[in-house]
Amino acid sequence: MHKMKILVLNCGSSSLKYQLFDMTGEVVMAKGLVERIGIGGSIVKHTKGEDSTVREHDIQDHAQAIKIVLDLLTGPGTGVIASLSEISAVGHRVVHGGEKHAKSVLISDDVIKGIEECVPLAPLHNPANLMGITAMRKLLPGVHNVAAFDTAFHQTMPQAAYIYGIPFEYYERDRVRRYSFHGTSHDFVSARAAEILGRPLDSLKIVTCHLGNGSSLAAVDCGKSVDASMGMGTSCGVLMGTRCGDVDASVLLHIMEQGVGASELSDIIHKKSGLLGVSGVSSDLRDVEKAADKGDRRAKLACEMLYRSVKKYIASFAAVMGGVDAIVFTAGIGENSDLTRKAVVSGLEFMGAKIDDAKNNGLRGKEAVISADDSKVKVLVVPTNEELLIARDTQRLAK
Ligand code: ADP
Repeated sequence: MHKMKILVLNCGSSSLKYQLFDMTGEVVMAKGLVERIGIGGSIVKHTKGEDSTVREHDIQDHAQAIKIVLDLLTGPGTGVIASLSEISAVGHRVVHGGEKHAKSVLISDDVIKGIEECVPLAPLHNPANLMGITAMRKLLPGVHNVAAFDTAFHQTMPQAAYIYGIPFEYYERDRVRRYSFHGTSHDFVSARAAEILGRPLDSLKIVTCHLGNGSSLAAVDCGKSVDASMGMGTSCGVLMGTRCGDVDASVLLHIMEQGVGASELSDIIHKKSGLLGVSGVSSDLRDVEKAADKGDRRAKLACEMLYRSVKKYIASFAAVMGGVDAIVFTAGIGENSDLTRKAVVSGLEFMGAKIDDAKNNGLRGKEAVISADDSKVKVLVVPTNEELLIARDTQRLAK
């Protein structure tokens, strides 16, 4: 096991993303994406260094997709390993671990049962994750599989942060509570921010802002999540690309009373809301910012709502932790939109956070401290790397 090669898999309902890491130096040897699994016209994109191969296949299920990926990893031209025996272990991204898993875990029959039990909490994601795990166990028998859960990092939240103000029996009977997601990302960027600042993680109060198509914030106190903006599902918290963010439950009742059923309502709050629903322009912030710049009023409103919702969560999480030492921006928007970072932090001078425009403007996808030198609260951009964290956990557990 001296030179470990770790394959990381992220299975969606009709897609699969993979990265093969050489853990000596934590280098990505190859990565790729399979799309349209089981719905016809499947496409495989495989990247090795600078070279990308795109192939069309008819892929029926995840097992077949994984078989193709393994062939690409070893095949002539596309391959980066001589044989599959070089793969030391496989790490799987699993969306929901419920209350059982506060850490990544070596997969056993028992763990699989636990992931199955969480299907009602993540009906789209957990079944897909399970398909990947089952296929991998069949194709590479004897190789350790590890599950890294999106919910695990937030299991340290106190009850006061995760219980909803509805009758307690819903928690006791159905485990209705806040779980929140993107845990691997919040974990990775908070730890990295402490390294960049040269201070021990267990001495820092950090608000991490994972802002992408799906967005969530976390209050990370001494390395532990103590509050987070997503809930039992992924639609609440800040305004997102197509998800609504926080909405009064009465609004949903009002919509349902107009004859809208549960599945249509789910479509509305997950796919038709957010930047897209408010602006009517796009779910992609780049398009919305452009339209706003040209004077589109609803696009401008959507941007302002996004900035305001992130700002509110930062300040409320600072209040929860009794202070804040660092604010960290990550994911597509957090890493790339200087406009968003500027708008979110401006107004937070009262609590000691000030951006340095020269450091913020034009900064995209790079690690940096972007606060002014005299800013008491440090503001950072830290590109997230969930796959690397999964690979590290997998290596540690498979050893
Ligand atoms: P996902 O949640 O699907 O992983 P990403 O983390 O890739 O999403 O984030 C996608 C979002 O990042 C989109 O709204 C996109 O507009 C935004 N984004 C990417 N680059 C920029 C940029 N240069 N300026 C503003 N927004 C950007």
